[in-house]
Amino acid sequence: MLDDMMDYLENIRSRPVWRPIPDAVRRCFCESLPQEECALADIHREFMDNILPYAVGNAHPGFMGWVHGGGTPVGMLAEMLAAGLNANLGGRNQIPVEVERQLTAWMRELFDFPEQAGGLFVTGTSMANFLAVLVARTRALGVDVRRLGLAGMSPRLTAYTSVDAHRCITQAMEMAGLGRDALRLIDVDANHRLRPDLLQAAIARDRSAGFTPFLLAATAGTVDVGAIDDIPVLADIAAENSLWLHIDGAYGALGRLSPYLSPLLSGIERADSIAFDFHKWGQVPYDAGFVLVRDAQLLQQTFASPVAYLQKAARGLAGGEPWPCDLGPDLSRGFRALKTWFTFKAYGVRRMGNMIAGTCSLAAYLKARVEASPELELLAPVALNIVCFRYRCADADRVNAEIVVAIQESGIAAPSTTTIKGCLAIRAALVNHRTRPSDIDALIEASLRFGRELSRAVPKA
Ligand SMILES: *Cc1c(COP(=O)(O)O)cnc(C)c1O
Repeated sequence: MLDDMMDYLENIRSRPVWRPIPDAVRRCFCESLPQEECALADIHREFMDNILPYAVGNAHPGFMGWVHGGGTPVGMLAEMLAAGLNANLGGRNQIPVEVERQLTAWMRELFDFPEQAGGLFVTGTSMANFLAVLVARTRALGVDVRRLGLAGMSPRLTAYTSVDAHRCITQAMEMAGLGRDALRLIDVDANHRLRPDLLQAAIARDRSAGFTPFLLAATAGTVDVGAIDDIPVLADIAAENSLWLHIDGAYGALGRLSPYLSPLLSGIERADSIAFDFHKWGQVPYDAGFVLVRDAQLLQQTFASPVAYLQKAARGLAGGEPWPCDLGPDLSRGFRALKTWFTFKAYGVRRMGNMIAGTCSLAAYLKARVEASPELELLAPVALNIVCFRYRCADADRVNAEIVVAIQESGIAAPSTTTIKGCLAIRAALVNHRTRPSDIDALIEASLRFGRELSRAVPKA
C-alpha cells in the first residue's frame, strides 16, 4: 500500500487531474453491509481500481479549482504513524497533547501573539470561524450566555464582514444562534477589500438603531480572488468600537511564512482571533484547521465543562491540564498535530515560505500570459495566488462555463468558475506546491483551444 501511494505521488503528472466517474464504479458503492470477512488484498485492489482514480485530484499539479492543498509524502507518513498510535487528543497526560501545544506555541510565534494566547486544531476554517464567533459572543455577553442562551440576554448583537467573505461566516452566525440577519455584509472596493467607510457607517447606523456591534470578521485571502482586507485600518475601527477582530485567514494567513508576503498581512498580530488551515497553503494532508485566540481564558470560558468522568488530577493519566477538550466542543480528537509537526520540521519555515511565494509567482505568470493573449481577458486584480479570467466571445458566460467543464473532463487541468461583477470567470487558484509554469501553459493552451471550439459551436437548444 505504501509503495502504491509513493508511486501515485511520484507519477502523478502522467495521470489526468480528474476523470468522469463511470456508473459501474459508482454502483460499487451501493452494496449492503458486509457480513463476512474479506481478504485485505482484495479490498486494496478495489481501492486501487475504484477509489484512487476517481478522487478530486488536488494532489495533481494541474489542480487549480478551489483552494485545496496538495499534500506531501511527509504528511502522509506522519498520518500513518498517528493512525498506528491511535491517540485521542481530548486530554490526559500524554506527549501527543504536548505536540499540539508545540504547534500552538509556533503559531503564537508566527503571528506575534502574546504568551496567554491559546489555540486548537479543528477540522477546517469553517469550524475555526464558528468557534471564534462563539468566543466573541462570550466576550460580548459574558459566560452567562451559556446558561441563559440568547433568549435570556438583552443586547441584539451585530457582526460585520465583507460581501466577499466566505459563506461559512454566515453559517457561523446561524449556528451561534445570532442569525444571519445580524451579519452586515459590507461592500468592497475595486480590489475586493472591505470598504472601511461603509463599515463605519454601518456600525453607526446599528448603534443608533439600538443594536450592539460585537464582531468584525476580516478576510486575509478571499476565496474568490485572494484579496486581503486592509487589516491595520480595520484593527483601528475594531479598537475604537470595542469589536472583536477576527481574521479569516483560511489559506492566506500562512503567507506569514514568506518574507515577501508577510508585509501584506501586517496588522494580523492585532487580531483577537485567527482561523486558518494547514491543509491549504501549508500542504498538510486533510484535515488540519486551526483557531488561534489572543486570550486562551476566553476559549476555556466558552467551552470548558466540569464533569465527574473527566476529573483531572495533579499526577497520573488524568493530569496535564488544561485539556484540549476544554478549549473547544470536541471531546474525542485525532492527532492532527502530528502531520503538521512533521511538515514544519521536515521542510522548515524558509522552504515552506518560498513554496507559498512560488504559487504567487505562478499566478503572476498566469496573469501575464492572460494579458498577452488578445483572446483572453483578466477579470480581477491578482493580489496573491488566484487568477480570474475569461475567453472573450459572444455569450461569454455560457461559453466560459463550458470551457471549464471541457478542461476538467480533458484531465489537462482543473480550474473552477466564479462570478466577478456579474461575469462568469475561469478561476485558477494556485495552491499546489507541485504546480510549475508548464502547468500554467497547459491551462492557457486548453482555454484557448476549447474557447475557439466552443465559441464557434451552435448552442444546444
Ligand atoms: C477554504 C476557506 C474557508 C473554509 O475552510 P475549510 O477548511 O474548507 O472549512 C473559509 N474561508 C476562506 C477564505 C477559505 O478560503
